[in-house]
Amino acid sequence: MFSGIISLAVAKEVATAQLEVQNVVDKLYTSGKNYEITYDISSRGAVKGDLEEFRKLVAEIYADPRGWIRAGVKFKEVESGGQLHVVLASGAEVKAASPVVCSDQLSCRVGQYALINDDRWMNASDSYNALGVSLLDYRRMVVNHETGHFLGHDHIVYCETATGLGPVMLQQSTGLRGCKPNPWPLPSELWVKL
Ligand SMILES: [Zn+2]
Repeated sequence: MFSGIISLAVAKEVATAQLEVQNVVDKLYTSGKNYEITYDISSRGAVKGDLEEFRKLVAEIYADPRGWIRAGVKFKEVESGGQLHVVLASGAEVKAASPVVCSDQLSCRVGQYALINDDRWMNASDSYNALGVSLLDYRRMVVNHETGHFLGHDHIVYCETATGLGPVMLQQSTGLRGCKPNPWPLPSELWVKL
């Protein structure tokens, strides 16, 4: 019984320590002030999602004042040859992009490519649907999450202490770990390392 209490206390201290480290990292990498990232939009494989709707929503997410723009980056769509390629891809194509790392069930970032899984784009995830979160918010989360990897972010496994929100870099598609769903980067995630 005591060991249970102790491990809970340790887990809390680890979570606090992780947040402190994150705060130090925040101060080190707020390098993106007004840094412009060019991106292009395309599709791969047989997708059900409408590419023009995808293009429009990605542009809205990137321009949204709640998004990565708060970390000092600006996104500019180009026809081709962008620094970042945002791709609406069939599950098979996502997996084919990096068979060891990517799954045909999830979205995946591979180098300069943010591959958004068409099935998730159309149907969200069990974790989001179970909570009745809108498809729009799922789409915002998944675009921000994969873009976050491109901006230098790894996964986070803890909820924000004060609000209980899930960081956008939590793998919210596979499970929320008790956090509240959240499609936007938290204040502690507002850094870029390009
Ligand atoms: Zn991820």
